[in-house]
Amino acid sequence: MASALPPNVSEKTFQKALDAFSGVVGKQWVLATDEDRTTYMDIYAAGDADQHLPSAAVGPQSAEEVQAVVRIANEYKIPLWPISRGKNLGYGAAAPCMSGTVVLDLGRMKRILDVNERFGYCLIEPGVGFYDLFNYLQEHKIPLWMSVPANAWGSVAGNALERGYGYTPYGENTRNICGMEVVLPTGEFVRTGTGAMANSQCWQLFKYGYGPSWDQMFVQSNFGIVTKLGMWLMPEPEATLGLNMQLPEPDDVGWAIDVLQPLRLNGVLEQNPSIGNSIRSVASRSQRSEWYQGDGAMPDDVLRGLLKKFNLGWWGVNLRLYGYDEVNEAHAKIIQAAFAKHTKQEFEVVKWHRGDPIENSGAGVPSTSVLQAVNWRGGRGGHVGFSPVLPASSEHVLKQFHSTRKRYEEIGVDYFGSFTLFDRYVTNVNMMIYDRDNAALTARVRALFKALVTDAAKEGYSEYRTHLSYMDEVALSFDFNNHALLRLNEAVKDALDPNGILAPGKQGIWPRALRKARA
Ligand code: ADP
Repeated sequence: MASALPPNVSEKTFQKALDAFSGVVGKQWVLATDEDRTTYMDIYAAGDADQHLPSAAVGPQSAEEVQAVVRIANEYKIPLWPISRGKNLGYGAAAPCMSGTVVLDLGRMKRILDVNERFGYCLIEPGVGFYDLFNYLQEHKIPLWMSVPANAWGSVAGNALERGYGYTPYGENTRNICGMEVVLPTGEFVRTGTGAMANSQCWQLFKYGYGPSWDQMFVQSNFGIVTKLGMWLMPEPEATLGLNMQLPEPDDVGWAIDVLQPLRLNGVLEQNPSIGNSIRSVASRSQRSEWYQGDGAMPDDVLRGLLKKFNLGWWGVNLRLYGYDEVNEAHAKIIQAAFAKHTKQEFEVVKWHRGDPIENSGAGVPSTSVLQAVNWRGGRGGHVGFSPVLPASSEHVLKQFHSTRKRYEEIGVDYFGSFTLFDRYVTNVNMMIYDRDNAALTARVRALFKALVTDAAKEGYSEYRTHLSYMDEVALSFDFNNHALLRLNEAVKDALDPNGILAPGKQGIWPRALRKARA
């Protein structure tokens, strides 16, 4: 593979820096062979992996080692890209935004430092994966539930720091953050919230601390390296009640959102249901070539035939109620009555009670089976996600759905979308699935992505999270008052990171010396 050095750093200086890193973490944890570098590339890249080449990776084992690595990086002006487990698939995986950056792999720091059953929280290091925390809670019989994203291969911290989400009432993972320990780009240690008191009794209980509150400043940013993270966990409920339905027509997603949004806002429904088009079920059970050989987007009649074969609607809706049995039953009746105004179909009902196998409960049980879908196009599969945020109403959802689907059809990619409902907004994740070795298809995917960013910005929709290759474009779509927010971010960046060593380019925020690199 092509090797990349950090900008303005000679081979000799780079080698000196790597030697100094070895002095801190041990030689075996400085990874700089071609094979090592390949491991940290974007494994799902749509033909643009060479835009984000890591120069090496360093794996510290403790916050003190992180601090020492950061100090060396300042001395030699070596950019660092922190990852927790590096499984940010579809958004760049373990790769850095700027080629030549050294990946700071925190995966070895995986201690679960505290779990408090009474107050429902944990304090963890960044390398703790969803499986690690789940297994810990199960083994110790702790009745606390996690919120887990659809693909749970990654870390609890990495997901919350990127604003990933799960589907329980604690679904907005970033909202559950309570207290952090951070190494600033200069190497200074800081604790947020009440953790700023050395003997705090409330670090994971009270988010705000005293004065300005900084937790969100370290989320989707390049202002610090999180070395400890407090997260709230949900007490296991007495019961859950699932309501599943297939919606036959594409436009049914509109009324479904209008019916569910007030119920979500008033608390009848407390979780974030994801309404996804059924191709995701088909793609996780079969490959496209079994049904269709054409190159462009799969035609509607082929898709309809498939849905019939698998007994699926155009969309699948899966709702889940959590809490006391009687309350769940009462809320289920309210939801059923609201749906009955639009459909004669009945919900499939799934009940779970404490003590039943957890797999059917609606708890955050980690799984990676959704990744099956990347095999849809055959070959070495990959996906990228375009994920705008919209108001939770049929007007916006249908407009966005129709214009997005039209773009997929024009450019020739199979439409694969979902709308996840929160209290006031929906996130619309549009997946593009490809064979990474099909250059024509990956070129179409990149063109589609760019078209969708531009379309969404015109409508006033931003993305909630994006792939490395589009961080500048999305940042520039926040254009109020001549990009005042970006200028604020840059001012903070320059103040906290005078040498510009931490994650240059992340979220479109570049340090002063590299700002010309902005697209
Ligand atoms: P996952 O949990 O899915 O493996 P990653 O480790 O890939 O997540 O992290 C996703 C992104 O979040 C990274 O590319 C980085 O920008 C940011 N990030 C992850 N961990 C940290 C951390 N400990 N401190 C600061 N930023 C982080």
